[in-house]
Amino acid sequence: MQDYNFAGKTVFCRLDLNVPMKNGQITDDSRIKAALPTILFLLGNASKVIFASHLGRPKGGFDSKYSLEPVAARLAELTGQEALLCSNFMEEPVDALVKQLGKNQFAILENLRFADGETKNDPDFATLLAKGVDYYVDDAFGAAHRAHASIVGISQKIGVEKSSAGFLIQKEVQELSKLLENPAYPYTVIMGGAKVADKIKVILNLLNYANHLIIGGAMAYTFLAYKGVNVGRSRIESDQMDLVDMIMKQAMTRKVSIHLPLDHVCSEAFQEDAKPVFSDTQTIADHLMGLDIGRQSARLFTDVIAASKTVVWNGPMGVFEWPAFASGTESIAKAVAGCSGFTVVGGGDSVAAMNASGLASKVSHISTGGGASLEFLEGATLPGIKVLSL
Ligand code: AMP
Repeated sequence: MQDYNFAGKTVFCRLDLNVPMKNGQITDDSRIKAALPTILFLLGNASKVIFASHLGRPKGGFDSKYSLEPVAARLAELTGQEALLCSNFMEEPVDALVKQLGKNQFAILENLRFADGETKNDPDFATLLAKGVDYYVDDAFGAAHRAHASIVGISQKIGVEKSSAGFLIQKEVQELSKLLENPAYPYTVIMGGAKVADKIKVILNLLNYANHLIIGGAMAYTFLAYKGVNVGRSRIESDQMDLVDMIMKQAMTRKVSIHLPLDHVCSEAFQEDAKPVFSDTQTIADHLMGLDIGRQSARLFTDVIAASKTVVWNGPMGVFEWPAFASGTESIAKAVAGCSGFTVVGGGDSVAAMNASGLASKVSHISTGGGASLEFLEGATLPGIKVLSL
């Protein structure tokens, strides 16, 4: 992006401004702030700029609940320029709007997902978006794994040589690539969260690099059950045992040490106010379910992390949304922040836990894209990145 001469040109910029909202108010504008360097760069260098983003998952057609109006207002505040919100971009080509743009004004399209053609990557819709546009800049890393019209189709219309990555995507690619190209050893992968199936591809790929694989969260109970350990009423995925088998065999071939929880924080019910019961054995009593890793496990995982030179973490160690079952995830956040090697945290929940710990600034890279960073680490070239000149 920095190499292009945008003077006198019109740029279409796809961002990820999918901010959380409550009653029409933005509750956290960090995604807007994260996109600001690219936004300000374009406003300072191009003649006319059109910004576009999705917001949530509207069912199709205009829905005020998913309107980008509050986002447009916040962008105007942060840039000191006037935002022209374009609601009828589904019918009228974007160039009609661009003609109206004056000095110190930028255009922002309404939620792209109000148009059916967006998620279908409809070529006619991509043509509509690309009309009158000279250059395309994509800085929506969080959506780079989606082959949508504003991500893939538009770039194909404008041409890959005129399509480039904004600062956020540049940084994500640069930092995440370090996990796959000449990483420093020992290399530790920490996986948590609910489902084995969601993480299988990334685990299998990272086993090519890792020395240690730490598994926590609900996923760990499926692994323990596979090993014949009684996990009581913990959440397990009995239909995923073949995936677990594949991971265990691959880990053995690659000589990767797998670390599973040694103890647990359990409860009798899956409820926020359920009384925590500490179980200091790997086995869980029949009437209990594991909702967090225990203290011995946190200590073991922390030691492995502290001795590592490369660490990547995705997924909480327990039901961290409930204070009684959050301490395992907090310990991992502290351990990752305390590691002096290259550390990467990805995925909404782990990033939230990192932010809550107040130690996010100690991590080498916090990825803004959950699904996109996982797919990147699977070794796949993301559809949204394939169409850019990096
Ligand atoms: P994921 O989106 O796959 O990373 O899963 C995140 C979710 O997993 C969070 O909402 C956690 O509450 C949930 N989770 C983590 N550990 C457990 C557990 N032991 N039992 C049930 N749910 C869990």
